[in-house]
Amino acid sequence: MSESTSVPALELKGVTAGYENTTILRDVQLVVPAGSVVALIGPNGAGKSTLLKTVSGLVKPTSGTVQLFGEDVTELQPNRRARKGLCHIPEGRGIYKRLTVRENLLMQADAGDEEGAIERATEAFPVLGKRLQQLAGTLSGGEQQMLSMARTYTRDQRLILVDEASLGLAPIIVDAIFAFLHRIVAEKGTSLLIVDQFVHRALDMAQTAYVLNRGEITLWGTSEELSNMDVFAEYLSSH
Ligand code: ADP
Ligand code: MG
Repeated sequence: MSESTSVPALELKGVTAGYENTTILRDVQLVVPAGSVVALIGPNGAGKSTLLKTVSGLVKPTSGTVQLFGEDVTELQPNRRARKGLCHIPEGRGIYKRLTVRENLLMQADAGDEEGAIERATEAFPVLGKRLQQLAGTLSGGEQQMLSMARTYTRDQRLILVDEASLGLAPIIVDAIFAFLHRIVAEKGTSLLIVDQFVHRALDMAQTAYVLNRGEITLWGTSEELSNMDVFAEYLSSH
């Protein structure tokens, strides 16, 4: 096995983190092997979004380490992590509603690659190409999510964190979002850490999955193992 495939895209070791005086994540261990898809599952308030923010650097651990592609990035700011090929698609989409679609795409592009970035993004989502001059806030929910996803095409991303991309969208749009994610993985071999209310869809895409409960990883395994577990089936049936 070559080094590039054996070094994980992401490794959290003993991560404890939270906000000001509240500890949310406790001693979290999690690995995203290079080129693989990992699902992070858990009830509302479990700390899934906090975990993704800890990966992208918006939340700093009080103990433990975050490694990206074999490098300790625990002390690095979010923009420095982004430059290493980390892309966080946050819950709520993280787009600038008062900027145009084109301006939103430009914000994500690398210097000197602005036109190329727009070309690749609108190729992936042709509907955005027709809306370049429109304010992002006037797009439909599905189009806003596409704009949020388009940033994965503006740079050469190596690990993408996707937080609740399907929230509030019509089933047909959810299909398109998942098809897009499948395409990125198949075409570019990008690694994904995905949080989604449609647990079955996330598990179908993923090779491994982790269950987070009250900030602790309480269960992990291959997606297949987890889908077959009684305790897990019970959890799934209530979601
Ligand atoms: P999930 O994504 O699994 O629903 P979150 O990570 O959003 O969970 O939230 C986990 C806990 O952290 C919740 O109790 C939530 O209220 C709290 N929390 C989330 N964001 C903040 C914040 N910015 N400041 C303080 N507490 C927060
Ligand atoms: Mg969340």
